[in-house]
Amino acid sequence: MEYGLIGMPLGHSYSREIHEQIADYKYELCEVTREQAADLLTKREFRAINVTIPYKEFVIPFLDEISEEARAIGAVNTIVNRGGRLIGHNTDFAGLRELVLRCPADLSGKKALILGTGGTAKTARAVLTSLGCEPVITVSRTGREGAITYEEALRDDTDAAFLLNATPVGMYPHNDGMPVDPAAFPGLLGVIDVIYNPLRTRLVQQARACGVFAEGGLLMLAAQAVYAAEWFLDEAFGPDRERALIDKAYRHVAALRGNLVLTGMPGSGKSTVGRLLAEALGHPFVDLDEEIVKETGMPIADFFAAHGEAAFRDVEAAVCVREAKEPGRVIATGGGAILRDENVRALRQNGTLIFLDRPLAELVGTPDRPLSRDAGALKKRYEERYERYCETADIRVDVRGDAESAAQTVLRAVREGS
Ligand code: NAP
Repeated sequence: MEYGLIGMPLGHSYSREIHEQIADYKYELCEVTREQAADLLTKREFRAINVTIPYKEFVIPFLDEISEEARAIGAVNTIVNRGGRLIGHNTDFAGLRELVLRCPADLSGKKALILGTGGTAKTARAVLTSLGCEPVITVSRTGREGAITYEEALRDDTDAAFLLNATPVGMYPHNDGMPVDPAAFPGLLGVIDVIYNPLRTRLVQQARACGVFAEGGLLMLAAQAVYAAEWFLDEAFGPDRERALIDKAYRHVAALRGNLVLTGMPGSGKSTVGRLLAEALGHPFVDLDEEIVKETGMPIADFFAAHGEAAFRDVEAAVCVREAKEPGRVIATGGGAILRDENVRALRQNGTLIFLDRPLAELVGTPDRPLSRDAGALKKRYEERYERYCETADIRVDVRGDAESAAQTVLRAVREGS
């Protein structure tokens, strides 16, 4: 390996895709045990590597030199080999700083809360202090090392202006977790969640629903990689190129790992258009109605007849939550999937919701869908749901005619929107 990443596990790493957007070197993912990491660092047969969990502190004794910021944080995420000498850096600090700086509010002199007491929480403290936040308070389940407990935070610090989650709560596969409810902090100006899988955690979504600026951790991941690439190549990119590369890498991975979720009336062409989109993008396609049929072992109309709509909606919600947490897919939803807030939240964590807005005159009743089996039923559903489709959509696309041209329209709208 010349360039790459060491850590354990690396199964969900986005780092290779990110580095491919930044530079021409071949970037390899190298899952290593402690012994293998020690061997690699002793033999020094690489040009430059990134280091991730659980080795950011472990690698330090193998280094000849360590930069000031890495020493201050006590962790190394980048090692360069300069003629046999290993020099350690920490680009998580600059990466997280870049992410926090995307918050439009002036944070200086403002109270900030950091959730968690691990390595990223320590980096967060250094970043928020460097940006003038005051006081910076750490919140922990145990209240150790000068931290306060969650109960104390909810009692004494609901006037906080900034919240940064540095815990794994809400991370895949436990996507429904939320460390605190941002609604409990009415003075919030910004929320950062360092988690990047899912792209928008429940915390980020809930903060946005409260009208607060909120962003997930993918931008930090992209930014720390750009700063690492500068060490790898021994080249300063300068602020404009750095920002352009960060945004390029961010957009690339967000598109690759994000889901396109088609919503809209039965008969609007979600499944056919979805298959065409998946083919065009090289992404897997998932039809939630087909998944429900597999789950229940019977056609939807039969399930409705036997168990009623409420039971159907419960199965639909469970399928929705399960399927939406997997990234990088095109998903066709059933016509009523967006009726429940929990489904919309689940679909939005990785997804862009696209409402296929086909006029009522072009919709065709589907006998296998009990609530829209004929023209009369379709019209009733259309009038009941149209507003809901609009308000839950990130993008509304007017579609007319055949599925092929509808798919092209959707692709254009997605590209313009990203
Ligand atoms: P870590 O060292 O394991 O620390 C996580 C901290 O979270 C712990 O110290 C713990 O603090 C708290 N915590 C753990 N489990 C919890 C639970 N079930 N409920 C509430 N609190 C819990 O991890 P880390 O390396 O700092 O990483 C933290 C997060 O940052 C991870 O999700 C990681 O993926 C993410 N991260 C993102 C980036 C990026 O580029 N975006 C970079 C690095 C890390 P207490 O015990 O004191 O409560």
